[in-house]
Amino acid sequence: MDRRSFITRAGIVTAAAATGTACSSTPKGGEPAPLNVAKSNTRFGNPLPTEAQLGANGKLHKTPGIRTMYTRCFTCNNMCGLRVRIDEASDKVLKVGGNPYCEMNSGSPLPLSMPVRDSYAALAGNTGLENRATTCGKGASGVGCVDDPRRVTQVLKRVGKRGEGKWKSISYEQALTEILEGGDLFGEGHVDGLKAIRQLDKPAVPGYPEFGSAANRLLATFGEEDTLRGSLYARFMRQAYGTVNLVTKHAYCGAPTGIGYGIGLAPGLEPGLGDIDWDNVEYAMFLGTAPSASGASLNLLGRNLADARVERNLKYTSVDPLLRTEVANDTRAQWLPIRPGRDAAFMMALMQVMFAENWFNAEFLAIPNADAAKAAGEVNHSNASHLVVTDAKHKDHTLFAKASDFGVGGDEAMVVENGKLVSANLAKKADLFVDGLFTDVNGNQVQLTSSLALLKAQANQAPLASLSADCGIQQSQIKQAARDLTHHGRKATVVTNSGANSGDAIMVGWLVSTMNTLIGSHDAKGGTLYANGAYWGFEGNYNLGGFDGELDVSADINICRSGAYEDSTEYKQKVAKGENPYPASDMWHNLVAGYASFNAAEALTAHTNANPYTAKALFNWRSNALYSAASISNDVEKALVDTDKLPLFVAIDCYMNETNRYADYFIPDRVMYEEYAADRMWGAFKLGVVAGAPLVTPRTPKNAKGQHICMEQFMIDMAMAMDLPGFGKGAIPAADGRKVDLLTFEDWHSRYLANIAGQCSKLPEVSDEDREWAALEYSMAPLRPRLTGEEVAKVEALLSRGGYYEEAERYDGDFINGGGGKFLQIYNADMAQLRHCHSGERYPGVPSYEAKRFWNGDTWEQHWPEKEFPLLFSNYKPTLRSNYSAAFDRCAEVTPQNFVYMNIDTAAEMGLTDGDKVRVVSGNGTPAEGVLQADSGVAKGSVCVSHCFGHKKAYGADTRIIDGKVIEGIARRGGGTAVNQMIPADPTRPGKVSMLNDYYAGTNCRQGIPVRVEKA
Ligand code: SF4
Repeated sequence: MDRRSFITRAGIVTAAAATGTACSSTPKGGEPAPLNVAKSNTRFGNPLPTEAQLGANGKLHKTPGIRTMYTRCFTCNNMCGLRVRIDEASDKVLKVGGNPYCEMNSGSPLPLSMPVRDSYAALAGNTGLENRATTCGKGASGVGCVDDPRRVTQVLKRVGKRGEGKWKSISYEQALTEILEGGDLFGEGHVDGLKAIRQLDKPAVPGYPEFGSAANRLLATFGEEDTLRGSLYARFMRQAYGTVNLVTKHAYCGAPTGIGYGIGLAPGLEPGLGDIDWDNVEYAMFLGTAPSASGASLNLLGRNLADARVERNLKYTSVDPLLRTEVANDTRAQWLPIRPGRDAAFMMALMQVMFAENWFNAEFLAIPNADAAKAAGEVNHSNASHLVVTDAKHKDHTLFAKASDFGVGGDEAMVVENGKLVSANLAKKADLFVDGLFTDVNGNQVQLTSSLALLKAQANQAPLASLSADCGIQQSQIKQAARDLTHHGRKATVVTNSGANSGDAIMVGWLVSTMNTLIGSHDAKGGTLYANGAYWGFEGNYNLGGFDGELDVSADINICRSGAYEDSTEYKQKVAKGENPYPASDMWHNLVAGYASFNAAEALTAHTNANPYTAKALFNWRSNALYSAASISNDVEKALVDTDKLPLFVAIDCYMNETNRYADYFIPDRVMYEEYAADRMWGAFKLGVVAGAPLVTPRTPKNAKGQHICMEQFMIDMAMAMDLPGFGKGAIPAADGRKVDLLTFEDWHSRYLANIAGQCSKLPEVSDEDREWAALEYSMAPLRPRLTGEEVAKVEALLSRGGYYEEAERYDGDFINGGGGKFLQIYNADMAQLRHCHSGERYPGVPSYEAKRFWNGDTWEQHWPEKEFPLLFSNYKPTLRSNYSAAFDRCAEVTPQNFVYMNIDTAAEMGLTDGDKVRVVSGNGTPAEGVLQADSGVAKGSVCVSHCFGHKKAYGADTRIIDGKVIEGIARRGGGTAVNQMIPADPTRPGKVSMLNDYYAGTNCRQGIPVRVEKA
């Protein structure tokens, strides 16, 4: 056999099946014999048993003793599909690959109508390469997570001081009782249990009704991206227990850019983010990132980028402080080394060139309404031509001028068409650059300016030379980038993600969506892609969204002060006294409040400051704010240790991390291969859901009733013990009039999956052969008794393919099928109505480029002068690391540590050389130490360090004592440098501790931080 045919045939039916080894194990009758790997005596280790084997009769057979199932990956938040191989005898996960039905894993996903057996055949032989379904390195490394030696598999109670790492194992029932009832639990005095904390008739803060009831003093964190499991947690916390303080990671993750992007995408203020239509894109710009380094699935992006480079000679530019491997040699890739946190300067410069050269899609921008768009063959339109009242004395200043006030229509906006004022609803092709005095119905002259004119003025605020110097990119390069972006018609796009999260992340996100508006690429073939969405399981045969007696806490202001300051008691009292209500006494989050400021790190910061109150209990499920949030203070850690300040801390997780190691009680939880899943996918085109069921026996212990302990069981048992609504017998109303129970883990998941499957209209019919090949007997056994026959058939179909991926034509003419309907906002009037809670000034209506500012308006430079902190820091996600992958041995082996990256010339100027041990020092953060790597792949004046390293006290790198037995830490899991506590806090915010935020949204920033680097 030559090398080519060997490789071609070695697909999923591994090399063993195509070589003498497999042949020799194939009996004459064609059926394969079980592979006994344990007895294999090979020189270089034992090959894994294959998923399937080709019999001598040329037919594919399941390998006896091997179960393979399609499910979803939760190693990072992208949620790709997975194909997982399990050894049935040992109940162990052997190998992880991709799901060939799922768009995230395969460039040519198989149709759902293809039987499961055929999907395995398609992965082998001559079609193996074409149908290859991959998973990224960190996803594949999850193989060891079930039997990880440092996984928490007992119910634990601390025996030393918080965080000392000393525990004793206790029964689940003891933990449940103590957590609910409280008492002198640790010999340190009385602790209120959850029952006592739930005082719905008492205020959290007397005299300030906006903060709701005292039940809000239960603070709960969670990883919200897991919708299926997270929805049960939220049901307990918000609807049953009644706390508003259910907080998550968005604000210190991707929310800043998403919020900004959304401001330009639609009226109102909702987050959003675009992807790339890889199938036809000709030019792409990656801002603050590199393709496949962050954002949508690494699987998807890596494959699409490779295809686009090879098949269509894609031109792309990575505007990034760090040159990453994805910007490959011998391609049409370009790296523009930008100074960290200067993305807005670059975007403004780009826009300035585009306006100067008339390089924007004027035809598209001139369309003022949806009807005119339709008539012109467009799917979107914008408010580029709409007129804003720019007369500061006018009642509608900063709003769109009303057509009725000028006698040309009703409440709608106006434009100028053919030199005349016209209702924006009636015009067809409006003037784009308008700025002048117009006479209203009362004969008053009013200054009106079109949205695009306001944007152009903003783009021209600073000279190109100054913007160029600020971002570190030469003017000639800026002009070339502007040319590239605007000379591919609509087959071009700009994308970004958390790489641009500096003090102006909102502006950067907004500028990116605005740029895509200027070139008309939203929803265009080859332009900016928006996913067709996902299915959620709250409605259907079972009502999982609400229940009798549920509490509604949506009007409460949470501990982070998410909401408008103008609605607060403090504001009203100041106004009543005739005082200037600004500044507020503390930060309020009024921009996309529900998304930006249900922030676990800000919540812990508020708790530390005891403002507006402290938490009496903290529940931390799958969350690690102390490690993951940039600029979180060491004092927050101290506040978690302080049992007077935080009397009760309960962790629910499979691993110990930097936050939950301070818990009083630790409830073990399921890992991703032991849970049900039904989630959205980032970056997918298809409407769909990635789904899965437990693949192996959970390693968590059982409770007295014989149920595996996990988050859901714990929530259910607590709720029932407290007699809370929404849990227990008959807690879930069914559409057929029944009331079904919510007593167990499976009670929730079976109904959620049934609701999802019920919406998937084109699920295939499952055959007996599918059942065998998808191991449905295994996955359906706990679900079957809880579902009707019809529901069983649908859920079987859903799980057999690892989800549902609706087939659809990708394009409708020149646009992406399913896209369109957007009213794009060059000027966002809703944004312009908000006021900053310190200055009282209105937010801008078009994106702006400003010096980085603290909460009180001081510039960063005033507190952190360039002389003292001459470098700018940038932080990025490495491809092989995510939160949980720190515990994956393969990730630790391949990338044992990170480095402090600097440009070789910059390092030399600082007297540093490659390999030096260095210290990164910021204004008021805790210095981070690491090893310097100096080369020319870093922007001058920058320091880049990756996230997800330096877990010295977590994920098994910690030494812990359980029941008197010392369990040594695994040092390699803690390799490298952690940087988030190096990132300084805002020195102008009130309170002992603070965080560094975007000026407008109050989301956390991690880029463009002024630092210096010195020898350690
Ligand atoms: S990109 Fe994330 S979700 Fe997808 S396979 Fe990799 S780790 Fe898993």
